[in-house]
Amino acid sequence: MLDILRRIVQEVNDAADINQALHIIVTRVKKAMNVDLCSVYLSDHTRKQNVLMASDGLNPDAVGNVHMDFHQGLTGLVGIREEVINLADAPTHSRYQYIPQSGEENYHAYLGVPIIRHRILLGVLVVQRYVRKEFDEDSVTFLITIAAQLSGAIAHAEASGGVNILQQKSMRRAAPFSGQPGSPGIGVGTAFVIYPSADLNAIPDRFVDDVEKEVGVFTNAVEAVRNDIRSMLVRLTDKLPAEDRALFDAYLLMLESESLVGDVIAKIRQGNWASGSLRDTIKEHLRTFDEMLDPYLRERGEDIRDLGRRILMRLQSGGDARPRKYPKKTVLVGEEITASMLAEVPPAQLVGVVSVSGSRTSHVAILARAMGLAAVMGTDFPVGRIDAMEIIVDGYRGQVYISPTRAILDEFSRLAQEEQELSADLISLQNLPSETPDGVHVPLYINSGLLADQIPKDINGAEGIGLYRTEFPFMIRECFPGEEEQYQIYRQVLQSFKHGPVTLRTLDVGGDKALPYFPIKEDNPFLGWRGIRITLDHPEIFLVQLRAMLRASETLNNMNLLLPMINSVHEVDESLAILKRAYNELVEEGFAIQMPKVGVMIEVPSAVYQVREIARRIDYLSVGTNDLTQYLLAVDRNNSRVASSYDALHPSVLRALVQVVEGAHAECKPVAVCGEMAGDPASVLLLIGMGVDSLSMSVANLPRIKWVVRNFTSGRAKRLLEEALSCETTDVIRARLNSVLEEAGLGGLIRAGR
Ligand code: PEP
Ligand code: MG
Repeated sequence: MLDILRRIVQEVNDAADINQALHIIVTRVKKAMNVDLCSVYLSDHTRKQNVLMASDGLNPDAVGNVHMDFHQGLTGLVGIREEVINLADAPTHSRYQYIPQSGEENYHAYLGVPIIRHRILLGVLVVQRYVRKEFDEDSVTFLITIAAQLSGAIAHAEASGGVNILQQKSMRRAAPFSGQPGSPGIGVGTAFVIYPSADLNAIPDRFVDDVEKEVGVFTNAVEAVRNDIRSMLVRLTDKLPAEDRALFDAYLLMLESESLVGDVIAKIRQGNWASGSLRDTIKEHLRTFDEMLDPYLRERGEDIRDLGRRILMRLQSGGDARPRKYPKKTVLVGEEITASMLAEVPPAQLVGVVSVSGSRTSHVAILARAMGLAAVMGTDFPVGRIDAMEIIVDGYRGQVYISPTRAILDEFSRLAQEEQELSADLISLQNLPSETPDGVHVPLYINSGLLADQIPKDINGAEGIGLYRTEFPFMIRECFPGEEEQYQIYRQVLQSFKHGPVTLRTLDVGGDKALPYFPIKEDNPFLGWRGIRITLDHPEIFLVQLRAMLRASETLNNMNLLLPMINSVHEVDESLAILKRAYNELVEEGFAIQMPKVGVMIEVPSAVYQVREIARRIDYLSVGTNDLTQYLLAVDRNNSRVASSYDALHPSVLRALVQVVEGAHAECKPVAVCGEMAGDPASVLLLIGMGVDSLSMSVANLPRIKWVVRNFTSGRAKRLLEEALSCETTDVIRARLNSVLEEAGLGGLIRAGR
């Protein structure tokens, strides 16, 4: 049975469209179960009807034409109850409903199972027999298993062929397609489907006689791509902060690197033509990226692939690449949108991005956030069929509407307008203090890390850097960086914000962040060797980093140190001892350094319960709500299957945070929050209510958080916190906070934001 099941699932996965997928299901299941009929009904949640979409056994004319309300018939009962119904003689059941055109009068035994995906009913799978006999246990479990296995394939096939089939069967789809929120915002415009025109995989090997001429062809193509990227950079100069423009600098660097360009030239010199040599080099690089455990770095493989395509396009066009014509309000849509595809669209014409692959950490999502564009990533989506259609991108909820109804379009256009007005207001806040109307100063800092050398001053009015993740310099090298190299990087960061505090976090690798040259293979990486556990086990690495940091702060004296993943006072004491050692060594060597403030990240539940003991030992606490939420709720922060259960507004997380703030304040130590929660307006209301002393977030979130701080008194925030603490569920808390924000005028910007 397992084998049959596997084969059916495979065939359905390979189907060209939903019609074919459903046809495969009904014919294969009928045969495998040796039944007399198999049908699939899909649920139209807009009309609240189940529609017969495929059948092997019923009258073919009935397919697409039998519509039954959700409460009608046995099929309706299976759907409403979301459970299996197994009957020996269906026509004798009180809910049985005979449909004249279907030709089902001869069938008696009935087995119906719901098809459910992510808790949503997709439809009902039914088998029937002529005999009057209940189905046996094996048949029931087989049908349940197949329905569960097929739900993903059906959802995908429906998405890929969705628009067509729903229009054909007059089931107009009001429901949006879902993906991950890539960048907050609302984009209403025309879909422009972009696809890579140069396919590296299709390039054959071809031998060349004049290798030097071929090297020339290749270097010309590289130069042309370099020029393309430089002009993109010019176009984006005032659209992007320097930190994000650096993504394109990275492209330029790759185009100069020996490992990419040099490798291709070496291959050409071995006799293969430029395109074939490029293909092999790109593939080799991609393999290295694919093996990386860190999702951020894995995503960088996308950039290599993109560069490869660009060079290939230039090779194929002999250096000529014609500009595309984009609609006035372009929503860029594609299977895999890259940062450079996005940068090609004139910024004034771009209103949103939808990418089938990729996630929040993809470059394109990072860029969209920096440019204030709505983006939805990783959505099952009928890309091939929607070019030039009207489309809405809801970057808050991660949803996309295609050819929306007038009512939906009006609602979103209004929200987009509100959002635009609000953004203008937010910009005007830049130079105003981050202070509540009743005079509580809540300093706002930024999180940074990946491209430290590019951090500009005064980003969106930030008062400093609240979290500098030091992993990056470690990730982009082939071995641990030395003291001097690290010193240069940290010095630049500290200098870039020399008038404000800069919090450097010590190395936090492990978990999902692996170093290519220091692989850690574990069954449970998030519960394994990560953060401070690694650095304490390797004092030689830790000491080098601490020495580099201390030296970097010489004369600037604006550095705070932060220790990640602390789970016991033991780890704090040991870290402080190593820090003291580094400090003493440097003082002895003649460096005029000061001991920095030292903080501990509260991101492991055990640290919550020992917050006072920890706070006593150090200068401040900083709550890493990303990990704390993950560990308190036992929900992997990177797993999209359980993403709906991951929310820092969970009552348990709120109670833990209250405990942390109270514990720290009882020891007269300040508390910062530096996880994503600090950039979420609804959460920030409660954090202010708790008395959190400062907030650190990504640059893009800073203006709206300042708006929240400046519009709510700390007294109001306290009352909202009390109210929230009396609620039992996350949804109620979020709904309440969102309505408060909405009333206050933050409108569309906070809806369902996380
Ligand atoms: C956190 O866990 O909230 C945090 C800020 O650290 P990171 O996201 O780097 O794990
Ligand atoms: Mg963390």
